[in-house]
Amino acid sequence: MSVARHWRETPGRYNLVGTKCGNCGRIYFPRRSICPECRRASFGKMEQYMLKDHGTVFTYSVVHEASADNNNLKPYAIAMIRMDDGVLVTGQLVDVDLDKVEIGMPVRAVLRKLGDESHIATINYGYKFVPKDK
Ligand SMILES: [Zn+2]
Repeated sequence: MSVARHWRETPGRYNLVGTKCGNCGRIYFPRRSICPECRRASFGKMEQYMLKDHGTVFTYSVVHEASADNNNLKPYAIAMIRMDDGVLVTGQLVDVDLDKVEIGMPVRAVLRKLGDESHIATINYGYKFVPKDK
């Protein structure tokens, strides 16, 4: 990932920051500059919105084969999480027995190391999901 893109996306990556339409109240993640429902009526009314850090597993997949970058992680679970705010967020499930993952499982977002791009002197952090009781 480029350094510019990394910094541009950092607020959403660290804090699950989306946007809320000041016209209709819909919440979006990732952030949007206009509401696709309200269009012109949402101009200038999109507000930064911090998602709640709890949700449930909407669906998931266990990855058994991975790219070289993620080879040391496998097998691992990638899930779509229905956040308590209603939006879907994709992320890795960690600190969980893969046999125990199930649809509807309560989870919470945590900040974890995503990757090490030491060739450009950055270590990336971002959100992952753990079972709610961890
Ligand atoms: Zn709207």
